[in-house]
This record gives sequence, C-alpha cells and structure tokens, in this order.
Amino acid sequence: MLFSELGLSPEILRAIEEQGYSEPTPIQAKAIPLVLSGRDLLAAAQTGTGKTAAFMLPILERLKKFANTSVSPAMHPVRALVLSPTRELADQIGVNVKTYTKYLPLRATTVFGGMNMDPQTAELRRGMEVVIATPGRLLDHIQQKSIQLNKVEVLVLDEADRMLDMGFIQDIRKIMSMLPKERQTLLFSATFAPEIKRLAADFMKDPQTVEVARQNATNEQVEQLVYSVDAGRKRYLLSHLIKSRDMSQVIVFCKTKLSADQLARDLKRDGLVAEAIHGDKAQASRLEILSAFKEGSLRVLVATDVAARGLDISELPFVVNYELPNSPEDYVHRIGRTGRAGASGVAISLMSPAETRQHEAIEKLTRQTLTPQVMAGFEPGSTAPREESSHRRERDRDRDAGREQSRSGTRTPARESQRDPMSVPASALMAGKSGEGLKTIKPAGSSRRSRKAQREVPALLLPPRYKVEVSR
Ligand code: AMP
Repeated sequence: MLFSELGLSPEILRAIEEQGYSEPTPIQAKAIPLVLSGRDLLAAAQTGTGKTAAFMLPILERLKKFANTSVSPAMHPVRALVLSPTRELADQIGVNVKTYTKYLPLRATTVFGGMNMDPQTAELRRGMEVVIATPGRLLDHIQQKSIQLNKVEVLVLDEADRMLDMGFIQDIRKIMSMLPKERQTLLFSATFAPEIKRLAADFMKDPQTVEVARQNATNEQVEQLVYSVDAGRKRYLLSHLIKSRDMSQVIVFCKTKLSADQLARDLKRDGLVAEAIHGDKAQASRLEILSAFKEGSLRVLVATDVAARGLDISELPFVVNYELPNSPEDYVHRIGRTGRAGASGVAISLMSPAETRQHEAIEKLTRQTLTPQVMAGFEPGSTAPREESSHRRERDRDRDAGREQSRSGTRTPARESQRDPMSVPASALMAGKSGEGLKTIKPAGSSRRSRKAQREVPALLLPPRYKVEVSR
C-alpha cells in the first residue's frame, strides 16, 4: 500500500516523503482511513509501530481546512489535543508534528512540566491548532487561563495505559469533562487493561478497535535471552556482555532510580561510558544525556521504566533488563526499544534467584517460554561471595590509593595494576560470542597506556548513529 492511497493531501505526502517513509506501517494503514472518517478509535499499538503518524497525519488532514497564516490568535484556536504520559513522549510527538506540518500553516506546541511555564504560556497565547501536553501541566495552564479548549475537535490519549499506571486517571477524566462533547477521541495503548476499557466506555462513542500485534505480544524479530545470575554478580556479567558482544550502544533497564544511579557508577568504574536517566534528574540533564546517546558518545544508557517511556530510540540492537520489572507489561515496553521498524535486536534479561516470580509473569503474559541459561564463569551460587568481597577490597584499595595520591601528588603504580574493573574469570571472557571480551581484560601489571586503550574501545566500536529524536 502507498501513502498516496490513504487520502492524504499533497502537502502532507510531501512532508512524509521527506522523512523517508516509503509505505504506511500496519497501524497507519488501518488507522488513517478510520480517523479520516471521523470515527472514535481504540488502538492497540506499541511504541515503534509508527502510531504517532497513525493519528497525527489524519488529524492534520482533518484540520487542513482551518490552516491559515493570520497572526491573530483568535484564528488559531486549539483544535487537536494530544495527552501524553511523559515529557519525553510529548516532546517526541511535538518534533514529529513539526515535520508533518512543514508545508501546512497549522501551528503546534508542546507543554510539559519541569520547565518554566512562561514561554509555554506565550506560545499558547499566540494561538495553536495542535497542543501536545502532559496532563498535570495542561491543568496548570487551564487554571491560569492560558489555554481554551472549547474548540477542540480531536482528543488523543497516547500511551493511555501508562498514563493510568502513572496515576493520571483523575487528571484525564477532569480534562475530558472540559472538552466539547462533540469531538473525536482516539485512544492508543499497548494493552487494554479493564480500566482502559472503562475509560473508553465512559468517554468514547462506538469506537472502532484496531490492533496491529497480538495484545502483549513481543516483537518476533527480537531475540530474547535470559541469564540466571546472582544479584551481586549481575554488574560483572553486564560489563562482560557489553564488551564481549561488542554492544556499541545499549539501554539497560533498572527498577529504581537508586539502582540506576548505582549501576551507572559501577559501569563507569569498569571503564564504560555510562549515564543514568530517571525522574529525579532535571529535564535539562535528561535531554543532555539523551543527546549524548544520540550522538554516539554515550555507550550505555541506564534507565528506569518511567524515564525511558516515550523515547523514540529506533533500531537499537541491544536492550538489557538488569532487573526484571514487577509488571510484565513493562518487559514488553522495554524490549520494544530494540528490533524496531523491522530491524532485528537482542533483549537480554539478567535474572537472580529472587526474580523467578517476575520471570514467570513475563512468560505468562507474552505466552512464550524463556528458558534461563547460565554464562560460564557466572553460575549462580558459585564464586559470588568471594568476588563481591574481592571487589569491595579493590574499591577500598582504590580509595586508599586515591587518598595517598592526593596526599603525595604521585601515582601508585603497584596498586593501580591490581585494579581489574572486570573481576571475572578468564573462562568467562572466553565465553563471549565473538571472543571480543578479551579486548577488554587488563592483564596484571597493565600500564596507564593499556587502560587508555580500554577506554577508547567504545569510540573505536562506534556504531552507525542510532536514531534518538530529542529536541531542546
Ligand atoms: P512511533 O511508533 O510513532 O514512536 O514511531 C516509531 C518510529 O518509526 C519513528 O521514528 C517514526 O519516525 C518512524 N516511522 C513512522 N512511520 C513510518 C513509516 N511509515 N515508515 C518508516 N518509518 C516510520
């Protein structure tokens, strides 16, 4: 099927052609004609399926009749409102809309929390046909009367399941009750939990359901591997996997902000370029980290589920579940970061003996068997205590060496040579897919030069640039 067969105008077709979209994705082929017809839509589509264009292109087509170049704000009332669970997803949708409206005089803006309200207020007061917002910040603007919603014709609830998970249900119901009754409502969600169905029943009119993949299905192009490993040794196995599998870029998921921060620190200590993003980081810092990841200067992005939501990172070859999520739906979301847009990918989960319950829940939800395997040298219950304590000793030595160095202003080569960032047996390094792990081991008595070479490995292995759409 071609985009030109879907009833979109030349201005929109030109813009998407410039984006390099040659044909509609399955969700686009199904949803675009329905949205153009004015029907309400309940769409089960995960991030990475092209769902943003699936709702945005027909919305722009429907709003085209209002497009005008007048400077008067009254000529640009809000006609389409998109609600997003996270700032990053809102930002991402905003970036897409800007490209799709390149040849149409329709205005769009994005409002989300964590940023000064004043520039957003100024934008809204100029008049905007399309507003993309997180629920909390939208309510703030409604309260300040910087936005009027009485002309809204289309409402989109994007990643509705996540908005409910994040506790936005009251905000969403409040916002929906302020909109004109005569409107089109489009709800996108990875899963149709009972609460989503209730929301649809309360606020939608005879919605058409569109599903592109089996509910909760994982992408078949993603190879899923599970390694059984003791919790205390996950960090070493992760370093080993990153290096031995030549992971040029990888997202590593943690359950908590605390463990994400700790892991990023540990990986840095192992000579990897790693940063953590989570909800406690300032928006500016998150965007900076994402830009570094986009540019390829950041090799490992450690993220919590909430922070990773909405990142448009496509064709990433590796995703690692450092901790299995409590909610199996999050597993589906996490591994959806790889193997996107037709590319293949590998999702690796590190499972400790305490995580069998989560593992079972994932198998049940995704209706597949994920047999745990063991990496040679990282067998559960084998050498963990000795390694952990030896690592602690190494840390203490490093700290002492640092103190000594700062006291004397000199380096202590003997101590440095004892520091091996990958306290793993050589057999484990040999077990890597390509044997490349050997590159990263530091032989006893290694010099400053060999450490430098090790630090440079990520740069040498740098990948084609993965697509991470972020705008400031
Ligand atoms: P989404 O699921 O909306 O987050 O989209 C995932 C990625 O697919 C984004 O980078 C889009 O720009 C891209 N995309 C959307 N539609 C198409 C298409 N028809 N062909 C190729 N790429 C697309």
